[in-house]
Amino acid sequence: MGAKTPLEWKHIFETEAFEAKYAYAGKDLGVTLGEGETTFKVWAPTAGAVSLNLYQSGDEKAEDQICTIPMEKEGSSVWEISVRENLKNRYYTYTVTVDGETHKTQDVYARACGVNGKRSMVVDLADTNPKGWQEDAYVYDEALLPVIYEVHVKDFSYAESSGIPKMYRGKYKAFTVEDSTLYGKGEKRTCLSYLKELGITHVHLLPCYDFGSVDESKEEDSQFNWGYDPVNYNVPEGSYATDARDGRVRIKEFKEMVMALHRAGIGVIMDVVYNHTFALDSCFQRTVPYYYYRVNEDGSLSNGSACGNDTASERVMFRRYMIDSVCYWAKEYHIDGFRFDLMGLHDVETMNEIRRALDELPGGRHILMYGEPWAAADTAMKAGAVPAVKKNVEQLHERIAIFNDDTRDTVKGSVVKDTEPGFVNGGVDLESRICSGVLAWCDGKGGYHPKSPGQTISYVSAHDNWTLWDKLCYTLQKKPDFAGSDERIIQACRFACGIIMTSLGAVFMQAGEEAGRTKCGIGDSYNSSPELNALDWERMYRLEGLMEYYRGMLSIRKNFSGYWRRDGKMPDAVRFHHCQKGCVAFSFGAWSRDDRWQRLWVVYSTRETPYRLTLPKAKRMLLADGKSVLSQPAGEADEKDYVQIETAGVTVFGELW
Ligand code: CA
Repeated sequence: MGAKTPLEWKHIFETEAFEAKYAYAGKDLGVTLGEGETTFKVWAPTAGAVSLNLYQSGDEKAEDQICTIPMEKEGSSVWEISVRENLKNRYYTYTVTVDGETHKTQDVYARACGVNGKRSMVVDLADTNPKGWQEDAYVYDEALLPVIYEVHVKDFSYAESSGIPKMYRGKYKAFTVEDSTLYGKGEKRTCLSYLKELGITHVHLLPCYDFGSVDESKEEDSQFNWGYDPVNYNVPEGSYATDARDGRVRIKEFKEMVMALHRAGIGVIMDVVYNHTFALDSCFQRTVPYYYYRVNEDGSLSNGSACGNDTASERVMFRRYMIDSVCYWAKEYHIDGFRFDLMGLHDVETMNEIRRALDELPGGRHILMYGEPWAAADTAMKAGAVPAVKKNVEQLHERIAIFNDDTRDTVKGSVVKDTEPGFVNGGVDLESRICSGVLAWCDGKGGYHPKSPGQTISYVSAHDNWTLWDKLCYTLQKKPDFAGSDERIIQACRFACGIIMTSLGAVFMQAGEEAGRTKCGIGDSYNSSPELNALDWERMYRLEGLMEYYRGMLSIRKNFSGYWRRDGKMPDAVRFHHCQKGCVAFSFGAWSRDDRWQRLWVVYSTRETPYRLTLPKAKRMLLADGKSVLSQPAGEADEKDYVQIETAGVTVFGELW
């Protein structure tokens, strides 16, 4: 009765007067634990009453409420209560009444929670630090472009072939197992010990904040979800912990995972999904109805995420929430990078403010930021706000990068049309787009203007859509043989890898791409079985040759790291010698660790039979011949005005001084 409509709320929340009067800049929302005192604060400007409920356990079904305490409104917008007791390890919720409607909710600002996240938890974070945590750090030269490996926590070690002890399979803990091998047989490294030798700089974890699609109270291991359905943004997901019921366990085990990766010399990136929540019925909505979500002018809910709701980054309290949340993960969990899901739903100002806030943290400049510069559909962003989509990349801070779908689709074809090929699998007239890809699209020919190669993520596969292997099967085989090991498909994989690795831009790859990962032709496996999604380490070693090729290309990238830099001048250093039918050839100053090399020469060729390609005269030696990367340079160093190309793929030469 008399409750406001979503549209009425929108018109209130979008006024400057509302934000001027009710926005709260304090950093103490949530729980503050003091000596013999615990303070709770919640931002709820539209609430008529708020009370705190305390419980013994974190299970929302347990009838173990200790008490309910009414909270007081301090100032215009924050409800507060201080309890004269150290309440650590107690669980709590709020009861919030707005406009005559009353809801129980977990804390928007919760840092710990019980099973399934419906009750928040008072936590003393110092209790969750593993031994050695204070010394934990990841050192990374921020001038270099990263090589990012995208992993799902459960995929990584679910299969028995991972050789991880059963109790840790699919869990954060799997990352802490040292020297794991195929089926535990003592040879062929898996999981972390495998990654250590691959040559990547960062692991990017699919969502592992607390999400809603997996029931943490069930023991059975058959549940699976990618996790793009956030419930508690500042708490790790419980189903990846060995115990989801004690709120401290997931925090500690998450930190142990981070520490293990850091010790292996690998940075940790989190996939963050601030653009929508699991459902509209969230802690945000129950605390301040319709403040955190966009509403269309017809009163319907904005749905640019295609997940039922869009959060409103342009509203000051959600913008602050995003900034604080990202900084919290960086500080508390030592996270080295953030990948923003559907970044196109956020506004440029919010993204740039997050960058500024991270840069202000000690060592914060090394923290990576990148995202998907698109949305699933139109969104009702406030008029005047600029969406962080591809065409606006130049308005984003130089150290915020975008996934480059132009590179992705040019190399291997469309992600929606299964048989549409790209350059490596039969596509034609793509040479000039490939050249732009080499320059990380800094040439502006895509209709947008990255400021430097650091703003482009070059990639051909991610969790979304078909794996590289499956896409190549669809385009190159009459009847796709996903489980097979067709040499033609392997060669096309090498070709795609070679292009990505030698192009400017940061490298990104889906885990297992380097060894023919298949999901049997299924593109959207977000809730498929763990068997389909899991990394099959046995198959990976069946395609060990391909894995070796990736490793080899990564070693070239490392040895000539002077070239693969963020620097906006790097595209000018590239000289194209051919950009003609079926062939792109270019060279650049080698800037190698080994000063015998003057330039690198790279040839992408689609011709399957051997031929001589005319190039400017130089003393060149072969470094990679399309099928393998040579550990020792081969060929003659005579000065020649041509090179020999053996097969369709990427051939690399070093030019001697
Ligand atoms: Ca969860």
